Amino acid sequence: MTKKIAICWFRQDLRLYDNKALFEASKNENILPIYILDDENSKKYKIGSASRLWLHYSLKSLKKSLGGKLSVYSGNPEEILVNILNRHEVEAIYWNRCYEPWRIKRDSKIKTHLKNLEIQVNTYNSSLLWEPWNIKKDDGTPYKVFTPFYRKGCLNAQEPSIPLSKPDRANYLFDKDQIGVDELNLLPRVPWGKKLKTHWDIGEEGAHRRFDQFIEEGLSLYKEGRNIPAKPYVSRLSPHLHFGEISSNQLWHSVRSIGDNKNIEHFCSELGWREFSYSQLFNNPRLPEKNLQSKFDFFPWNENETFLKAWQKGNTGIPMVDAGMRELWQTGYMHNRVRMIVGSFLVKNLRLHWHHGERWFWDTLVDADLANNSASWQWIAGCGADAAPYFRIFNPIMQGQKFDPNGDYVRQYIPEIAALPNKYLFNPWEASEDILSEASIELGSTYPKPIVDLKQSRELALSAFQSLKQLDNKNLNKKK
Ligand code: FAD
Repeated sequence: MTKKIAICWFRQDLRLYDNKALFEASKNENILPIYILDDENSKKYKIGSASRLWLHYSLKSLKKSLGGKLSVYSGNPEEILVNILNRHEVEAIYWNRCYEPWRIKRDSKIKTHLKNLEIQVNTYNSSLLWEPWNIKKDDGTPYKVFTPFYRKGCLNAQEPSIPLSKPDRANYLFDKDQIGVDELNLLPRVPWGKKLKTHWDIGEEGAHRRFDQFIEEGLSLYKEGRNIPAKPYVSRLSPHLHFGEISSNQLWHSVRSIGDNKNIEHFCSELGWREFSYSQLFNNPRLPEKNLQSKFDFFPWNENETFLKAWQKGNTGIPMVDAGMRELWQTGYMHNRVRMIVGSFLVKNLRLHWHHGERWFWDTLVDADLANNSASWQWIAGCGADAAPYFRIFNPIMQGQKFDPNGDYVRQYIPEIAALPNKYLFNPWEASEDILSEASIELGSTYPKPIVDLKQSRELALSAFQSLKQLDNKNLNKKK
């Protein structure tokens, strides 16, 4: 290539519509669209297995939309970009900003390097409704509580930008030295991925089909319905949003154009929770590993590999927990209500460190997102900003009875107990031998006995929490 070109570096914005970097890049005559898999700088936060599968298909889909002109590389982006610059006459580079601390660090280094080489660097926000540094309290510090963050900070800030159309005229170039999507080796070697993939319609067009279906089936019942895992009242857009196949701007403006009611408001406020997670990560770069409330550094966590394995595989003997963990394994997704139930069970009833949950979710969720995942686990564990108080421990039996009243969700994921009457579906160990044998269940053989006693483990969790409170008092006394 001897033509002057502009690079459009796709990252977590795998779409053509409402893509600010692509839109601006397309004002140049020749554009080289690229994607770089960066497993070098990400280190501990290397994309997990389920997300890699998603990425594979999403890149294929984006490449198709670009008429095959997506050049793909793997390695350290700084070196790859310099290599491209050495081979082509590059005038400018465009990208949409990412907010993971390791990416911020990497990108600012690349930006300086490229500027020194007199390459124009243009970066944009195309994944958040508001830049995290723009939503601050009156005193200039970040919000720590969601409601004022959203109501006072976000809703009083500038309206999120109107979605852009896709570039109508662009000359996309292709780099013959790229390696191709298949060579990224993103697909798992085990058959698990094949089945998982059948649950999703990956790519920008799939994201819009999903959104349209949610508007038809879910939005009008969202506020109350979003808690019922067996119903189609949530959008299941999280992986599409994470990979940027659809933007939160598009969702925000589309739902608001329908009208103004409690369901639309509530859906927008959930997008607000996503913003809140990003704000927390931006303002606390160590959010994925460090307790926001440092007293939790002294929490007496258990270490128990057997408990952890049982939780991961959905074999705890507590149906609502197992159904969630099996949904995750089979589909790469778990309903939000159930994420809270399995999370609470892990950190409170099993008293295993939230890091174990965060890591497992990171590897198995198709929507694994550093901001949302870390902020949510800290919330569940009670050590985060605006967190669920530690002493609020979800009871998986009552949660099941309330949010899966007909047992549809549990029966779908735990067929071996499907024949139980609803009364014992969430607590099979309380059923009589007759009822169990009528349902062809032998506890400990066809389905596990509970690995912990819910009541006893709750008490133990509360007393462990009490020990932290004493720590608080000691510190308080010292200060006095
Ligand atoms: P909808 O209810 O349709 O909401 C629309 C969008 O709003 C979601 O796609 C998501 O982007 C955002 N949203 C909704 N609820 C939340 C929330 N509580 N916090 C932040 N954003 C929210 N979400 C992820 O995207 N990635 C994760 O890795 C992740 N890990 C989580 C771990 C735990 C322990 C918990 C309790 C929650 C986690 N969440 C995570 C948040 C939430 O569960 C998912 O965003 C939601 O279930 C996605 O389903 P949906 O798209 O149908 O949501």
